[in-house]
Amino acid sequence: MAEKKKFQAIKGTRDLLPPETELWNRVEQTAREVFGTFGFGEIRPPIFEPTELFARAVGGETDIVSKEMYTFEDRPLEVDRPRVMGDFEPYLMTVKKLSESGSIPSTTENLEKIKNFETSWEVFTKSSWTDVHSLMEAEFYAGEISLGPDVSLRPEATASVCRAYIEHGMHALPQPVKLYYMGPMFRRERPQKGRYRQFYQIGAEVLETLQPGQGGAKDIPKDATVDAEVIEMLMTFFARLGLEGVQLEINSIGHAADNCRRGYVQKLKMALEEVKEQLGPDSQRRIETNPLRVLDSKLEREQAIIAGLPKIADHLCDDCKKQFAEVKRQLGLRGVKYQENWRLVRGLDYYMRTTFEITARGLGSQNAVCGGGRYDGLVELLGGPPTKGIGFAIGEDRLILSLQEAGKGGVAQGRDVFVAWMGEKAQATAIGAAQKLRAAGFRVELPPVEQKFGKALGQADKLGARYALILGDDEIATGQWTVKTLASGEQRKVAAQDMVKFLKGEIEE
Ligand code: AMP
Repeated sequence: MAEKKKFQAIKGTRDLLPPETELWNRVEQTAREVFGTFGFGEIRPPIFEPTELFARAVGGETDIVSKEMYTFEDRPLEVDRPRVMGDFEPYLMTVKKLSESGSIPSTTENLEKIKNFETSWEVFTKSSWTDVHSLMEAEFYAGEISLGPDVSLRPEATASVCRAYIEHGMHALPQPVKLYYMGPMFRRERPQKGRYRQFYQIGAEVLETLQPGQGGAKDIPKDATVDAEVIEMLMTFFARLGLEGVQLEINSIGHAADNCRRGYVQKLKMALEEVKEQLGPDSQRRIETNPLRVLDSKLEREQAIIAGLPKIADHLCDDCKKQFAEVKRQLGLRGVKYQENWRLVRGLDYYMRTTFEITARGLGSQNAVCGGGRYDGLVELLGGPPTKGIGFAIGEDRLILSLQEAGKGGVAQGRDVFVAWMGEKAQATAIGAAQKLRAAGFRVELPPVEQKFGKALGQADKLGARYALILGDDEIATGQWTVKTLASGEQRKVAAQDMVKFLKGEIEE
């Protein structure tokens, strides 16, 4: 007999169960409704994509790409790694064939590995299978040969949305193209409250390819308005959900030019060099790799030092200053409250101007429920035409946690109607009644076996049903059905044909 084994969800992943999933559905349904009213349509990109796509879009140097992605080789069906020595010869043949047909990567590097494998295997077989060194070499190269493109589970979805925009020629659609998505993302992070390895995001992107003659300073008011409307949509969504303690922080990080962000980063770097000794190892490293990221630091002892660093607002170019002022004016017009936070940055070059983050109550240190910003240039970086972009990603797990902490996680009761029946005839009537009630949208529990009415009512109570429909001989004979309101215990007779109307009226009250 097979050994008994208990399986558990992998660390950092979890099952979402009823009744909590009702809240998840409510959140997702509300997102669909609110985003729909702003003219957004849903995109469902695949869960895995070429690793290269994320490396480019998210940045090869970021923690997400360098450490946190779940990556695997997407090999053709015809080939598997050799497990025993007898597999080596067929493996060699298959690999050679597949590299010739282009089904596995035929880069110079890979071809060289195949060659090395072939040579060492040949030396080994010619040595009458005694040259252990060549065998080990052959084994090594067999494992090194790349059997397919590297693919990764998506750590975020903006890259996929931009890839899809290009792939489907969406620049030819009326611009801008407004898309939203929701679904699981994967990052190998250290799990804690509000941080998981499989987590869920709800996000949206606005993409607009530049027409000839478009772009430049005259687009400033338009871009700022788009930014403000995207933020307004987010705040409307959170308000609709009743999320509490929502705080919106905004910043402008200028654009990648010497008279703007690049100039600022130079000054920041110089200022950081001066205080280097007082900083922790992470920040010290970032002075070289990505000085802006030092501003993200949450280390207590660095806070006072960071407060004294040069601020980006003092180094923005005129256009970026104008844009930021207009974003704020537009937020004002929409009644959206915000705080400025000059330390809100993004580490990548294509991010520009507007950045924002939203925090909510009840989340401890992982209190960011949403991050977003403008990323003109990303689509072009991925091989598309010059295209503007702005978007955000909401952490759905955290949004749900915050709603639950605030007591807003209340879910509808389990059942509307419990149909209690006794006797064969009553079962037929009960089935018919359940069909009618379900068709009318009620959540109905129909027990599979007959139960004494006392027991049935007890079960109805346990399931949180609001009404029990009681069908016994008397009800069948007269066509007058008994309905019991479980909370009050009140009981009355209703004509069979009036039952749906009666319950609708009751429930709407
Ligand atoms: P990012 O894509 O890193 O800008 O994250 C956007 C939002 O996703 C954050 O504000 C969080 O709410 C959420 N988020 C990011 N990483 C995780 C994670 N590992 N677990 C749960 N939520 C996350």
